[in-house]
Amino acid sequence: MQFETLAHPAPVPSATRDEALANPGFGTLFSDHMVEIDYDEAKGGWFAARVGPRGPITLDPAAAVLHYAQEIFEGMKAYKQQDGGIALFRPEANAARFNKSAVRMAMPELPEELFLESIRHLIAVDRDWFPTVKGGSLYLRPFMFASEAFLGVRPAKQYKYMLIASPAGNYFKSGAPAVKIWVARDYVRAAPGGTGAAKTGGNYAASLVPQAEAIAQGCDQVVFLDAVERKWIEELGGMNLFFVMEDGSVVTPPLTGTILPGITRDSLIALLREEGLDVREEPYSIDQWREDAASGRLLETMACGTAAVVTPVGTVAGRDGEFTIGSGGPGQLTSKIRERLVGIQLGTIEDRHGWVTRLD
Ligand SMILES: *Cc1c(COP(=O)(O)O)cnc(C)c1O
Repeated sequence: MQFETLAHPAPVPSATRDEALANPGFGTLFSDHMVEIDYDEAKGGWFAARVGPRGPITLDPAAAVLHYAQEIFEGMKAYKQQDGGIALFRPEANAARFNKSAVRMAMPELPEELFLESIRHLIAVDRDWFPTVKGGSLYLRPFMFASEAFLGVRPAKQYKYMLIASPAGNYFKSGAPAVKIWVARDYVRAAPGGTGAAKTGGNYAASLVPQAEAIAQGCDQVVFLDAVERKWIEELGGMNLFFVMEDGSVVTPPLTGTILPGITRDSLIALLREEGLDVREEPYSIDQWREDAASGRLLETMACGTAAVVTPVGTVAGRDGEFTIGSGGPGQLTSKIRERLVGIQLGTIEDRHGWVTRLD
């Protein structure tokens, strides 16, 4: 498919942009352009791929997404390399997961090549939007929603795919070396048979009240337990978890359909195995977590996801008190594996897995 490119008539002046890029924060600053591709079943699928000035879009008030939440998204980053080039980390994995989410939400799949092309086109016009701050990257947000004006309940016949870019610094506001997390007891994120494995906005909507509870309790993030037994650890609102044991084993909750299959999670499994660690995808309970933290059997807990990369969990709080993991600060393996991953992403460590795609 041909992409039409419409350059922004009045892009952000370079002095204003450069000032913003020195302190981009997370999720509030956006590049000049965006991608749109439309879908209409009656027209035979995807059409009108274009890159144009970023701005508001018009939607019919009856657009299905506004009523029944037919929506999916991805989250990925483009990294400035040491030599000034630009690279993506496992973008085919994001393209594939986007389509898995689409299938679960009864939405049309987007050809993977079109997904990847959209990224290349946006970066081609917005390549001056990389943050200058250390640890900065260009966060990419591909998403798709049902745009058909129809109030009946069935999969829509019209959709819009879009891609926007947001220069990003550190994800956690506090920039804290280790985070404190809150155990949700009254709420679950996903149930068996539900949409937990799909990257869909509704999962996040369901996590906002428990996340607000976590903040009110002085925590950074919420951790969810399984919906059936309320016992097994699943994940944070937007990050997967790893538990590092004293005996050289590492446990991470298995992908049973209620957990989002993180690409960072998958990459860490490979990197940890390369370190000679015995990584096991198996259920781990909240009681075991507390017990192992107390006995010293558990050395570290790390949370991982594209936005925050690899983040140490220092303290866990819940309605029956709190416990500390290790010294409460960043653990050795967490720091080491974070450096490995970031090094591969930035091109300073050899990519032995074929994970990095150079854009130029
Ligand atoms: C996106 C996401 C993750 C992390 O996935 P990555 O591919 O590693 O960024 C974890 N949990 C949830 C709920 C997510 O939406």
